[in-house]
Amino acid sequence: MPKTVKKKKTSKTLKQLGEALLFKKKSGWDGLRKKEEKEIFNLAEGYKQFLDNSKTERESVQTISRLAEAQGFVPIAKAGKEDRKLFLTYDDVAGALVVVNNLKTLNQGFLMNGAHIDVPRLDLKQFPLFESEDMAYMKTHYYGGIKKYQWVTRPLALHGVVVLESGKKIAITIGEDPEDPVFTINDILPHLAQNQNKKTAPTVIEGEQLNILVGSIPYQFKSEKDAVKLNILNTLHLKYGFKEQDFVSAELQLVPAGKSRDVGFDRSFVGAHGQDDRVCAYLGMKALFDSEAEKTGKNMVMVFFDKEEIGSMGNSGAASNLIERMVNDVLQHFGKNDYNLLIQSLENSKFLSSDVNAGIDPEWKEVNEPMNAAKIGFGVCLTKFTGSRGKSGSNEAHAEFVASIRRAFNKEGVLWQTAELGKVDQGGGGTIAYHLAKYGMDVVDCGTALLSMHSPFEIASKVDIYHTYKAYKAFYKHL
Ligand code: MN
Ligand code: MN
Repeated sequence: MPKTVKKKKTSKTLKQLGEALLFKKKSGWDGLRKKEEKEIFNLAEGYKQFLDNSKTERESVQTISRLAEAQGFVPIAKAGKEDRKLFLTYDDVAGALVVVNNLKTLNQGFLMNGAHIDVPRLDLKQFPLFESEDMAYMKTHYYGGIKKYQWVTRPLALHGVVVLESGKKIAITIGEDPEDPVFTINDILPHLAQNQNKKTAPTVIEGEQLNILVGSIPYQFKSEKDAVKLNILNTLHLKYGFKEQDFVSAELQLVPAGKSRDVGFDRSFVGAHGQDDRVCAYLGMKALFDSEAEKTGKNMVMVFFDKEEIGSMGNSGAASNLIERMVNDVLQHFGKNDYNLLIQSLENSKFLSSDVNAGIDPEWKEVNEPMNAAKIGFGVCLTKFTGSRGKSGSNEAHAEFVASIRRAFNKEGVLWQTAELGKVDQGGGGTIAYHLAKYGMDVVDCGTALLSMHSPFEIASKVDIYHTYKAYKAFYKHL
């Protein structure tokens, strides 16, 4: 009997042991204070506005540029040596915000955060316009990984640019103003869908069936061959001054029409197209704005990449030497023409590869391993590795670097969790991470969990958005 009493005094109960040793995932809404509630909902309003103004990578660069200038950032071409907050753009589709506080420590690298601003969508083909059954259509080619059947029977807006032979650039946005017309892809009625119903999901709507409806009135109301097609071309020519050949040098994208929305009776989610990865792009930008970077003495960067959704290829993607050119442009700006310095600066940088992850969807639980997958509303995701099968194609972050990130998050009360893109051998995916790691810098993936990723209406939790923002601020503050 006395033996038991003694034992009770010196050892913990199982419950106490659990509290001391176990990592507990926690809902961000659990025990929320009033002040934080306000911050969460305010942050989401700014984010939604950003989404509504930034539906293509070009529009994203313009919005970021406008917001950055309001924060005192100067386009590098216009900047003097005394300007320490710089904005760089590349082909109008990628860019970087740079804060240089210390010219003496450039060899120690930058604290870099990077996200991508391209999103899955439908692009118009080079010769898109055709007439069939006295209606005019435009052909599209999907960009990024989409489920084609999700894009039919919904209003679509057209965004982009047409570059004329002369080099003149015509910006086009049709379908966002409530007065504007929209476009749509039709689907067969259920009454006649017996053949379609036998197909599997990837072919229910075929790639070549992703044609948008654009008109049906023949030129001068006289039905003749191609009179509808020509009437559309004539309308475009009168309004914008371009001809059929000009489509060849255009970038015209179809995206879901309309604004981002609150979702749920309690408005706890943001619903919008293109949150992968504009959520990280916006929050990374805002974290840099709000981190009082100039007081820290550190050198910081927020990069915005294009082309992630098609493998980061092209000269505006992370697989190119964009990051190298960007750091070089900054060094050159301050008169440092030193290749060795460039290499050192890249190698010693620390990079947060900010991209979204998959939250557990209760209807599809079987694709996740719940201990390591992200729960919606349970904070920002820290992802040590991505890839598929045996982590193939992944940049696996070193344990030391993950420890320093975790330390920064814990110091700032960031609610974080781990995440992986599906259970082992379920599928997988990659981010920009390994393209940066090739310069020798430490890189880890970190971002917001989504539901319905890559769909026309992706869902993010407002409390996760908030903790992603806090995580990015903690990175700039403590790394
Ligand atoms: Mn992404
Ligand atoms: Mn993606």
